[in-house]
Amino acid sequence: MTQQSTDAGDLMSLCRRRGFVWPSFELYGGVAGMFDYGPTGFSLRNNIVDIWRDIYKRGEGFVEIDSETVNPQEVFRASGHVDQFSDLMTYCSVCRSPFRADHLVKDIFENPDVLSPRELDVAFAANGIGCPECGGALGPVEEFNLMFRTTIGPGSSRVGYLRPETAQGIFVNYLNLYRYNRDKLPLGVIQTGRGYRNEIAPRQGMIRMREFNMMEVELFVDPDDKDWIRYPEVKDRTLTLVPNDTGEPVVMTLDEAVGKGIIANRVLAYFIHVTRELLVRLGVDPDRLRFRQHLEDEMAHYAADCWDAEALLSYGWTEITGIADRGCWDLSRHAEFSGTDLTHFKMYDTPRETEVERIKAKRRELGPRFKADAGRIASLIEAMTPADIVGGRLVLDPDGEALEVGDDLFEVVTVREKVSGERVVPHVIEPSYGLDRIFYTVLEHAYEYDAAKDYAVLRLKPEVAPVKVGVFPLMEKDGLDEVAREIHRSIHSHRVEAYYDGSGTIGRRYARMDEIGTPWCITVDYEALEGEHKGTVTIRDRDTSLQKRIPIGDCGRIVGELLEGKPFDAL
Ligand code: AMP
Repeated sequence: MTQQSTDAGDLMSLCRRRGFVWPSFELYGGVAGMFDYGPTGFSLRNNIVDIWRDIYKRGEGFVEIDSETVNPQEVFRASGHVDQFSDLMTYCSVCRSPFRADHLVKDIFENPDVLSPRELDVAFAANGIGCPECGGALGPVEEFNLMFRTTIGPGSSRVGYLRPETAQGIFVNYLNLYRYNRDKLPLGVIQTGRGYRNEIAPRQGMIRMREFNMMEVELFVDPDDKDWIRYPEVKDRTLTLVPNDTGEPVVMTLDEAVGKGIIANRVLAYFIHVTRELLVRLGVDPDRLRFRQHLEDEMAHYAADCWDAEALLSYGWTEITGIADRGCWDLSRHAEFSGTDLTHFKMYDTPRETEVERIKAKRRELGPRFKADAGRIASLIEAMTPADIVGGRLVLDPDGEALEVGDDLFEVVTVREKVSGERVVPHVIEPSYGLDRIFYTVLEHAYEYDAAKDYAVLRLKPEVAPVKVGVFPLMEKDGLDEVAREIHRSIHSHRVEAYYDGSGTIGRRYARMDEIGTPWCITVDYEALEGEHKGTVTIRDRDTSLQKRIPIGDCGRIVGELLEGKPFDAL
């Protein structure tokens, strides 16, 4: 008999004991919201990243980059983080504990995120809400920017921030990436790395960390083409969606969701599906996974549509990935703030005749004024566009000396022209994966307390399990240990981790492997050395505890086949 764990405490204590994660700086009393990954946790995390890469790099053909974690403030002025990336907080006037103000009213308002500081102050007073720690009165609600601020170089003139997301590193490299992609769209780019958010009161273990890991994907697409070439392959697959108009979960196909206008477009639907496939492949329980559409007032003003992949955890439904159609926001802002053209030239299939506005120089007026230079000035004027006119004037630059001309010397005319294409600002489709939250979800959904064994087993998918196979000599003597070490050597690699363990009872050794989710264990017993089964060892399956005998020389091949998905029964 097994039962599902709902206790995050049991799981976190297993994580500490078995080297998955440790609270950081414990030696010095710890810092809330910070965790270090131990050897098993780091292997599991790397396996998750490898599968994400397999899906996006191999499967979708996206490219991967690695950008800086400290960024100058210009980047986050453009992205909006300097002005807007803040949470509302309040301090207890008695014990000085800090709180996220919206969290204190989450049982009263459906979406407390959208309340203003003033509305929160009023809500505290009206509902008699005081400090959850000591009952003291709460101070005024204020904004707190979540970015860690620093300076770049000595002195304080160059302000920088630790990045709160990896995405901006892709946007600021857009031009390099676009050229690398030979000026073509779609362009898919992925990046994994650290993000830093100075969370006000991180209290939910690995769910709210101050330094965390992300796997972000930015797909740049033609704004007029939100289809995806592989959409037909997946359009009939089903998903559990929670649309924002009803707030109720419904199971429907992608095509139904797009057809009814629930998901904004096909490319977004495709990557919601890819996200589901990825999460389920990692071991997230499909029955505890849903896609919730952001409420109208929760969605960023620039987003065309936004969905969160939510997993049911002991903390309740929790966002583990956000998938958004961010429109032209990111590139428009970086173009505006950097003064760089970040548009894509989109060629039409056949040239189109359209009406366009052009600037025409008034040559008759220019002649007397500029004499021999008139022709050159006329060309400079006509090289400009109506968008360059400011207050009825154009600023020309003959020989580096700015020359201003008024509209007595030019006019705007409408002409019909054949155009071969147009400049567009690419739109961004962004699946943003919170690696630590996914890591924690994979562990919580794999965790089962096995009452018969009286310990917890992690039923991890073999592909993500940190150790693939335990190798034990029954006793560490009589040559059993030599055979076991040889088997271990033949299997162990950085991709297929094997763990040699020769000490303690065999039951305890199995238990240790079950607790870290090792799918199989190979034991070298005395039968390996003599008698009818000479030359064979046992292999045990974690989930059924069934054992089979296999030839010593086949261990590596058999583990490889099991990892490829061969059922244990078929051995
Ligand atoms: P966001 O940019 O806020 O949509 O975050 C993208 C993903 O990062 C979310 O879906 C979460 O899984 C993860 N995430 C955000 N904030 C934190 C945090 N403080 N600690 C751990 N993971 C986080």
